[in-house]
Amino acid sequence: MKTSLIGYPRVGRLRELKFATEKYFRQEITVDELEATAQAIRKDQWLKQAQAGIDFIPVNDFSYYDNLLDAAFQLNIIPKRYQELELSDLDTYFALAKGYQGPAGDVKALAMKKWFNTNYHYIVPEFDKDTEIRFHTERLKAIIEEAKALKISGKVVFPGPFTLLKLSRYRGQSQAQDFLTGLITAYQDLVKLLNTEAIQWLQLDEPYLVHDLTHEDIKLFKDLYQGLLSQKDQLKVLVNTYFGDVRDVYQELTNLAIDGIGLDFIEGKKSQELVEHYGFPKDKTLFLGLVNGKNIWRNNYQSSLALIKDLKSQGIDLVLSTSCSLLHVPYSLENESALAEKYQKHFAFAEEKLGELNDLSQLIDTDFHNDPRFQANQALFTDRPDSYDPKVQERLAAIPQTAYQRSIPFDEREKAQKAFFNLPLFPTTTIGSFPQTKEVKLKRKAFKNGEISQADYQNFLKEKIKDTVHLQEELGLDVLVHGEFERNDMVEYFGEQLNGVLFTEKAWVQSYGTRCVKPPIIWGDVSRAQSMTVSWSVYAQSLTRKPMKGMLTGPVTILNWSFPREDISVKESTLQLALAIRDEVLDLEANGIRIIQVDEAALREKLPLRQSDWYTEYLDWAIPAFRLVHSGCHKETQIHTHMCYSEFTDIIPAIDAMDADVITFEASRSNLEILDSLKENHFTTEVGPGVYDIHSPRIPSVGEIKEALDKMLEKVKPEKLWVNPDCGLKTRGEKETQASLKHLVQATKELRHENQGIV
Ligand code: GLN
Ligand code: ZN
Repeated sequence: MKTSLIGYPRVGRLRELKFATEKYFRQEITVDELEATAQAIRKDQWLKQAQAGIDFIPVNDFSYYDNLLDAAFQLNIIPKRYQELELSDLDTYFALAKGYQGPAGDVKALAMKKWFNTNYHYIVPEFDKDTEIRFHTERLKAIIEEAKALKISGKVVFPGPFTLLKLSRYRGQSQAQDFLTGLITAYQDLVKLLNTEAIQWLQLDEPYLVHDLTHEDIKLFKDLYQGLLSQKDQLKVLVNTYFGDVRDVYQELTNLAIDGIGLDFIEGKKSQELVEHYGFPKDKTLFLGLVNGKNIWRNNYQSSLALIKDLKSQGIDLVLSTSCSLLHVPYSLENESALAEKYQKHFAFAEEKLGELNDLSQLIDTDFHNDPRFQANQALFTDRPDSYDPKVQERLAAIPQTAYQRSIPFDEREKAQKAFFNLPLFPTTTIGSFPQTKEVKLKRKAFKNGEISQADYQNFLKEKIKDTVHLQEELGLDVLVHGEFERNDMVEYFGEQLNGVLFTEKAWVQSYGTRCVKPPIIWGDVSRAQSMTVSWSVYAQSLTRKPMKGMLTGPVTILNWSFPREDISVKESTLQLALAIRDEVLDLEANGIRIIQVDEAALREKLPLRQSDWYTEYLDWAIPAFRLVHSGCHKETQIHTHMCYSEFTDIIPAIDAMDADVITFEASRSNLEILDSLKENHFTTEVGPGVYDIHSPRIPSVGEIKEALDKMLEKVKPEKLWVNPDCGLKTRGEKETQASLKHLVQATKELRHENQGIV
């Protein structure tokens, strides 16, 4: 059986591309040096895949920043304001990705969004009335030549036109339909180019097909493909889908005059059923997405081989593939020398997945039961050292339904809290972190490397906390924070202290552009080993009479930013995490911390792609898990939560059901429509919509903040409104932070003055 890859990670095994690109941005290396790094990465990866015996090697899956942006760029979907900078091609491309400020002009970046249900972000292509779609062939030609020179006769990959149109943004009066003809012509040119280059296969990625689709969507899809396929000629076309199943277009898809269809059998719950029920056309190849491109556990050969056998027996022509691009997993276990073998053998990163594809493709044609590869693989699934903790499981099983709900209703709590804290109208606060300066990072590094003692490091952190508390008092903020200087990352910090979570050294995964993250691995049953934040919060509280807010990361966010277990349900892992965080909440409370913020920055991230699954598959347990965290608190203890986006207009009932006392969220860049929806939904929780954007070093003026607050007050009752920035301040500098917060407090004072006597 032949094997195929959808795409490969591209930041380089040791993030070489990231470092080179950042150097290029700082003008420390030339464009040729940057390109040499990129070429070396491509070469290394192609040869590795060829060596591993992969038959369909992806060509053009590489990107300097993002694949969808690459496609938009090659198709000339470049808004005028970027073209007018008259930069080189590459610099125009980077201007689209991250904005440009310099002698040629000043433009912001295009919008960036989460790529389906992953933690990868794509750049949103932007169409407007001036857009003239045209296929620029040079770049793709060059890549194809590069592959040919290495004797790689690859499968060229390109985002599909339907997904491209659906994920783009349309400015002014323009809409997707306006660009249909232009786009079809451009894709026809792509097809022609590949025919001239004697390329055998074109893979068009259409993950958007796994959504709930309307009739118009399906018509758009069909129109696009009928158009572009008219020029197909010798070329074979594979339409590839992932992150779910294609239940809404299976028949249309199988009826197209294409040669291959890629279906995801990992996340596509109905893929098998669809194939069995409707059959799979004899004239097409099924690219069977069976090796998980998103998670890092070893494939279970037994069940994979059974499925392959079953499909083969239906007479289906099969190519074995990954479920999605391997972009979402790290490069190689080779870099993980500190991870014990007993754990390592359970994992497959990108390189190890190449081996799995190879194993499966060979085993299927043999009597595999006696094959050592098969036996070693099966042994993994009964051998999970330190994974199961009966105490955790018993505790979870014994939780009564009442523990999923605070016993005192919100209205009553709100009254009790107003009396207890006696805060001024429009209380001011921040989201938690203060600037993580170079000094802070260097100290942490020095401590990690054993260059300074634990005591020295702790003293340093205490000094930072002291300064930060004093600063907030001077500024006149009402609810203070300690600054989170002890934390590298809001998930990693907790993961490192919890039982059941493993860490890697170099297992980086691209999040966006040059930014990579190192997700923890949920290995076993999770519990709190000891208190994680109490001493810091208690110390900070000892320095002030104002309330000190305890800072925790919520269970859903910890889970969503980790590699989850596959031997128990995600729901169960989340509930275990919730119990661990609950222990911390109660510990903080017992130690005098009476305002506690539980961040759920990533709550929306894993919302199923199909709206019909939102509640049953996710929110129905994610929200109770959050409530489990705080249900044990006294009525005066005020629970805050924070979310990093304001895109939750459509799940407000679920946000309401979190039953927090205060919720802060990003709002400065949105048009506050979220506040309308809150009102419509009779949302009673107190809210702190961010009054300024912390993603930029710009200092907002008092007038600007005041204006934002005035607008908010049109939609929120005064006694419900909090004043705070958008998000944590850790990426900002100290100077701009102080100036911005000063303005924030000043604007609040003016607002209080105007609202005197109203409440
Ligand atoms: N408390 C965290 C901070 O202030 C929240 C970060 C986030 O929302 N991403 O950094
Ligand atoms: Zn945030």
